[in-house]
Amino acid sequence: MTTRYDVAIIGTGAGGGTLAWTLASTGKRILVLERGEYVPREKDNWSTRAVNLEGKYNTKEVWRDAAGAELHPHTNYYVGGNTKFYGAALFRLRREDFGELKHWGGVSPAWPISYEDLEPYYASAERLYQVHGERGVDPTDPPGAPYPHPPVSHEPRIQQLADDFARLGCRPFHVPLGVMLDETKPGKSRCIRCGTCDGHPCLVSAKADAQVVCVDPALEHPNVTLLTGALVKRLETSASGREVTRIVVERGGAVETYAADIVVVACGAINSAALLLRSANDRHPRGLANGSDVVGRHYMGHVNSVLMAVSKCPNPTIFQKTLGLNDFYFGSEDWDHPMGHISFVGKLDGDTLKAGAPAIAPGWTLDLMARHSLDFWLTSEDLPAPDNRVTLDRDGSIVLSYQPNNAEAHRRLIAKLKSLMARQTKCRVHGHDCHEGLFARNLFLGQRIPLAGVAHQNGTIRFGHDPRTSALDADCKAHEVDNLYVVDGSFFPSSAAVNPALTIMANALRVGDHLKSRLA
Ligand SMILES: Cc1cc2nc3c(=O)[nH]c(=O)nc-3n(C[C@H](O)[C@H](O)[C@H](O)COP(=O)(O)OP(=O)(O)OC[C@H]3O[C@@H](n4cnc5c(N)ncnc54)[C@H](O)[C@@H]3O)c2cc1C
Ligand code: SF4
Repeated sequence: MTTRYDVAIIGTGAGGGTLAWTLASTGKRILVLERGEYVPREKDNWSTRAVNLEGKYNTKEVWRDAAGAELHPHTNYYVGGNTKFYGAALFRLRREDFGELKHWGGVSPAWPISYEDLEPYYASAERLYQVHGERGVDPTDPPGAPYPHPPVSHEPRIQQLADDFARLGCRPFHVPLGVMLDETKPGKSRCIRCGTCDGHPCLVSAKADAQVVCVDPALEHPNVTLLTGALVKRLETSASGREVTRIVVERGGAVETYAADIVVVACGAINSAALLLRSANDRHPRGLANGSDVVGRHYMGHVNSVLMAVSKCPNPTIFQKTLGLNDFYFGSEDWDHPMGHISFVGKLDGDTLKAGAPAIAPGWTLDLMARHSLDFWLTSEDLPAPDNRVTLDRDGSIVLSYQPNNAEAHRRLIAKLKSLMARQTKCRVHGHDCHEGLFARNLFLGQRIPLAGVAHQNGTIRFGHDPRTSALDADCKAHEVDNLYVVDGSFFPSSAAVNPALTIMANALRVGDHLKSRLA
């Protein structure tokens, strides 16, 4: 027997979790289907060995790249999706990111909505996810009301770096963060400002993730039902192909079916595209809602790298992810193309470095390096190329094909950061040159995030006005299916160069308003 609901939401991450929260108060019967379980609360939540070296919480699914080589994706299937593990850096896209932008590597296309269309939802998402920040210091920050909470302070080494960047003419800012930190009440603050935030689940539920701030509160409404361990295998349509009529789910080893007036897919950009492709039928031979042939295409994951600046000066910072720099986001005096965004990852340690180090590197070297490094995170825009795409193997498993682009922008962004680092002042704590390398002057160790690093996945089911070039309309409804919506990172027509989660959350609230009118 197929149980029927008003709305079914597939996936509980930034998109699905936020939508479930905003629709919960409508009183409509809402079914939330999540393939994962709750993240177990255990000491390993905060173990860098368990999380980074052993990959304890990563999916064990195996994907393939275009050449057929195995990919072990760094992604997580749990209630709350990847927000359980995110660094909670919650940025708005820049106003200009909504328009067409010329990059060194090509054109970043315009969105079918403007910054002003999304702005009220950004403000709501910042309240919901308790973002701490300071508006308007970042020179590229788009207009908006002050953040709901004050910025997270820098620890001394990071403050010194911020002062140095400012002295060099840059405008460093405090990264907007969704953590429940109250620095005025240290003994009472829910967030304890630990060193294992970015990449880890929060053991004390103080990170504003989709489970804590959206899914759990939504479940307090009796009209909302969550089924965990519920893997959606395919969506079936009516004979006309205009309506999703059945959701086929594998749960506890059995097949179950559900139906809903409105079906919302929010499995993350790669899994959502795979689900639509797996749901091909006579009316949708290339995949559900894929008459345009864009489903799965234009995969973007950001051009990201981690750059460790190792120096004589120790870096005892615990919570490192507080400082950002966007001075080169749109270009610089000597290069008239966007370069991207500079901020930090969580403080690296020896165990984390071991996950990517050659076997010959002795553990103590890695520990020592980590004690002396500033660990930057650099992001340049990944441009939407049609052949960077998700397809399915013969057995239905995921194939991710990708050729890097916009590499020159990223190379120049790295060079800008290195040049700033070379011009730092003497260390106020130790009295020597902070930038003087441990083993040589200015030791930089950089690593591009490999293809398996799909944390910022987006773009695979793009929205737009033209059904020939987009799969979703401006409300994120499928052009070709009347009751099908997508609200995860799939809808992005361009990736911009700041972290994606707040835009996914804000858009879910926007689509939520549209659905409320439709359901009324
Ligand atoms: C380590 C890490 C750090 C990050 N840091 C940041 C950051 O600081 N700032 C930022 O903005 N972003 C960050 N991100 C990215 C951010 O987490 C994602 O952009 C965001 O979670 C994507 O939201 P989503 O709704 O698209 O997908 P997800 O959050 O991935 O949610 C998708 C959900 O769908 C479920 N699902 C998948 N397939 C199925 C299926 N077939 N049936 C049922 N359920 C299914 C999954 O289990 C998952 O719960 C980070 C990500 C990682 C991994
Ligand atoms: S306590 Fe604070 S810093 Fe530590 S994981 Fe939780 S939210 Fe992040």
